[in-house]
Amino acid sequence: MKGLCILGATGSIGVSTLDVVARHPDRYKVIALTANNNIELLLEQCLQHKPQFVVVVNEEKAVQFKQKISASAISGIEILTGSAALETVATLEQVDSVMAAIVGAAGLLPTLAAAKVGKTILLANKEALVMSGDIFMQAVRDSGAHLLPIDSEHNAIFQCMPGGYEAGSKAPQARRILLTASGGPFRETPVEQLKTVTPEQAVAHPKWDMGRKISVDSATMMNKGLELIEACLLFNMAPEAIQVVIHKQSIIHSMVDYVDGSVLAQMGNPDMRIPIAHAMAWPDRFDSGVEPLDIFEVGHMDFEKPSLERFPCLRLAYEAIKAGGIMPAVLNAANEIAVESFLNENIRFTDIAVVIEKTMLAFKPTSAKTLAQVLEADQQARQEADKQIQNLSI
Ligand code: NAD
Ligand code: MG
Repeated sequence: MKGLCILGATGSIGVSTLDVVARHPDRYKVIALTANNNIELLLEQCLQHKPQFVVVVNEEKAVQFKQKISASAISGIEILTGSAALETVATLEQVDSVMAAIVGAAGLLPTLAAAKVGKTILLANKEALVMSGDIFMQAVRDSGAHLLPIDSEHNAIFQCMPGGYEAGSKAPQARRILLTASGGPFRETPVEQLKTVTPEQAVAHPKWDMGRKISVDSATMMNKGLELIEACLLFNMAPEAIQVVIHKQSIIHSMVDYVDGSVLAQMGNPDMRIPIAHAMAWPDRFDSGVEPLDIFEVGHMDFEKPSLERFPCLRLAYEAIKAGGIMPAVLNAANEIAVESFLNENIRFTDIAVVIEKTMLAFKPTSAKTLAQVLEADQQARQEADKQIQNLSI
């Protein structure tokens, strides 16, 4: 029986994780759940899973949540608030595994804290890894933590790696990774129409049901850019050894090309419960609740190269990882600000890449050896991106 902490329990990944947990009460016990704002859903989750600890980051919401809990039939839950409490629950003695499912930079500190004390990290929060890069991977190595990717592509690559493979190590027989992408909702939209895309159109993903931020990232393909950086770190590969492949059916979730010419692929229905169940059961397997793949319904599969003209964010991610140092953190911070601004209808869809590129141009790829350097680059890049957004609207 393993103790589980879910950082970001009320999000799309958090909800899918609890769905898998409910199928395996003999394998996992929920110790802690965290949320930012959605206390209605959090209360339902508490009724069902009876955690020992809950974090509501937003302090006003935490007060309201305490009232809801007192009025309910639940007792014995310790309710904490503020972002530092995320680290407290992620490092609790009785927690074995931490599902890192907070979106964006907000997930970095608790995920890193859990890695430092050797918890098994189920990593969905790609932004945390992109920002902190080698610092995160070193923390995992130093503590001997297991790091299991939840991002469907990285989970697929992990499954295609040689037996006994641990994230961060080099698999010399693997010469290339084929990182698949659905291409998002605008794969075929005429490029000149992209500037009029609305937030509602951008978050309507054809294959995956996800949070708003990652849905916009999928539409710009910055999601694949962040995943490219994530893959370089998780699998100790150079960016040149990673080829992004648009595969619109989203049945193959990525492939590994070996030196003997064998290409291994992991396939399955596009449902995040598959990688979640894989990582939770690892090195065993258990039921995820997902329907078996109907290969006849799939019928055929297509593959194409992405256009960097249509998807400039993908080009920017290649540039950031090649430049190294603080640049992936700068890319990520500028993207978070630009996406939020787009979702608030302050900038156009095509301005997202413009803001990120202009922000990146304001920085030099200085080294990112300490967490303080990363956090400073993150803050400065956010300010620079805000400035670039104001310049756009003048
Ligand atoms: P979401 O928006 O649905 O949920 C985000 C969660 O993070 C919520 O529980 C929210 O309460 C919490 N959160 C947000 N801001 C916070 C803050 N400032 N402090 C504390 N908690 C905060 O997002 P999601 O789609 O579940 O994605 C979560 C992460 O998983 C992202 O990094 C995303 O890139 C990654 N991911 C998601 C999917 C997917 O299918 N949804 C697939 C692969 C990777
Ligand atoms: Mg993915």
